[in-house]
Amino acid sequence: MQADIVIVGAGMVGSLLAASLQHLSLNIVVIDQIHATEPNNQAPYEPRVSALTRASQNMLTHVGAWSLVKQKRYAPFSTMQVREQEGHGELLFSAYDVGVSHLGCLVENNLLQWALTECAVQGGVKLIVPDKVVALERLTQQWQVTLASGTVITTPLVVGADGAFSAIRQLVGIGIDTWDYQQQAIVCTVKTQQPHQDCARQVFLGSGPLAFLPLPDEHYCSIVWSIKNEEAARILALSDDDFKAQLSRHFAQELGAVEWCDTRYAFPLIARHAQRYFLEGLALVGDAAHTIHPLAGQGVNLGFLDAAVLAEEIEHSLKRGLALGNMQSLSRYSRRRRPHNALIMHSMTALERAYALKQPALVVARNEAVRQINHHLWLKGFFEKQAMGLVGDLPTMAH
Ligand SMILES: Cc1cc2nc3c(=O)[nH]c(=O)nc-3n(C[C@H](O)[C@H](O)[C@H](O)COP(=O)(O)OP(=O)(O)OC[C@H]3O[C@@H](n4cnc5c(N)ncnc54)[C@H](O)[C@@H]3O)c2cc1C
Repeated sequence: MQADIVIVGAGMVGSLLAASLQHLSLNIVVIDQIHATEPNNQAPYEPRVSALTRASQNMLTHVGAWSLVKQKRYAPFSTMQVREQEGHGELLFSAYDVGVSHLGCLVENNLLQWALTECAVQGGVKLIVPDKVVALERLTQQWQVTLASGTVITTPLVVGADGAFSAIRQLVGIGIDTWDYQQQAIVCTVKTQQPHQDCARQVFLGSGPLAFLPLPDEHYCSIVWSIKNEEAARILALSDDDFKAQLSRHFAQELGAVEWCDTRYAFPLIARHAQRYFLEGLALVGDAAHTIHPLAGQGVNLGFLDAAVLAEEIEHSLKRGLALGNMQSLSRYSRRRRPHNALIMHSMTALERAYALKQPALVVARNEAVRQINHHLWLKGFFEKQAMGLVGDLPTMAH
């Protein structure tokens, strides 16, 4: 089989890339091990949700996926509250301050994946599922991609969108730099006594950041609690009642008691950054290129930007008559995305480290920094725009 582009991985990022390229009348093949099925609105909330920036929502709208998300369920949030357990400083970001209706939206990952895949397929992209890439060989001008089913595809451009353990990255020998936080993120759906009032809350506890992210039902939140490995094992072993009591303590003032909790899941937290994002005829996007600490909910937002920028560069190079997969356009893609991803990754690590330090002088300094941000409207506005993802070198479809 011959394809113009082979995208390996129909996760959120791979399927956004496919959907962004559909209008170019290319022969695009997307491969995944799993087939995303249409979510049921009556089903319990998925444990995996994403806090999307406005920039990501714009990209979903651009490819037509937001209209599918809207028919299901999602939760816009209009305020964000960040505080630390032992300090007095509290940051409150508000959509009102910047004259918009909401700062971002919470959407279940399986819904995003299904909506984006639907758009790509409706636009003519060929989806091969369930299957997976087992071998990759460089021919003179093309790659030869071999699937577990025995199908062989030749293509001038392969995109690895196959997640943190990317087979594509490993098959071509691109190394990664890693930073093991020695933490797990515990995620779980909870029901609280008080409504969340469309506010995304995060508190920096002694054990690590704990977020309560609003779900469409005003008494339901998705929590993400990042804690040291040993402590995570203890939290996971707690009875539901003890777990709810621990959570209740941290947000008692705003959300009252945690009345119910679903199954808890844990994800090891490791930052990874690919040492390069491209080779001739091959690019990495999303978690295949970088994984970051979830404390600011940026992972898939960065991945969406990778996909949109790569799509933009592919379109530019086609308009200039260049071959698909040419080094010039892939290096432009890398130049536009790698420094930005590195900056956000390092900022997350620095923030995580800064809040882990409990010396009294540092607590005072952090509270003073928070006071300054609250005091200076332009500074607050800067952070609000960051939270919405509307800064930096954005692809056109993110506006
Ligand atoms: C606890 C937690 C909370 C998070 N919260 C947020 C948040 O609020 N906001 C946010 O922006 N990000 C968040 N993230 C990060 C976000 O979940 C990831 O960045 C995102 O899932 C990456 O998407 P992806 O499409 O790149 O990779 P994946 O979602 O991993 O998709 C990869 C796809 O490739 C397929 N695949 C793998 N190998 C092969 C192969 N060999 N052949 C074919 N297919 C293959 C897989 O089946 C999968 O469908 C969070 C992460 C964690 C751990």
